[in-house]
Amino acid sequence: MRIGIGYDVHRLAQKRRLVLGGVEIPFPRGLEGHSDADVLIHAIIDALLGAAGLGDIGVHFPDTDPAYRGIDSCILLKEVSGKLDAAGWEVGNIDATVAAQKPKLAPYINDMRLRLSGVLNLASGLINIKAKTTEGLGFEGRGEGISAYAAALLVRKS
Ligand code: MG
Repeated sequence: MRIGIGYDVHRLAQKRRLVLGGVEIPFPRGLEGHSDADVLIHAIIDALLGAAGLGDIGVHFPDTDPAYRGIDSCILLKEVSGKLDAAGWEVGNIDATVAAQKPKLAPYINDMRLRLSGVLNLASGLINIKAKTTEGLGFEGRGEGISAYAAALLVRKS
């Protein structure tokens, strides 16, 4: 078994969609970035790659590559899933936390789990997502950005 952690931050900006865990969430601002800036999926990708000892998201999907401009991060996650499979790993479980002062994410958590479950071909019970505010503290609390943390366990394919 191998364990990995991931962390990511994106800035909130006008005229961007807010996509978290592959789910679009109605909100006046969205996350800024080269891809769709899905901070939760990026943290999960880094946790998975970290557990496999395969570097990080920037190594596999450089933000200087125009191919990834505006890309749905679910496509990146699917690709990472294929790399893990090729390396002989399957996902044991994933646990993640999103830190955002607003919007309230609780109503979307289950949709995110189901979406990620479909992309990873993994039982949704093995994917846990938590949302927290930061009590108004820090950049998340001021609404300047959203951060995400993830941990992933990989097990050798039988
Ligand atoms: Mg990112």
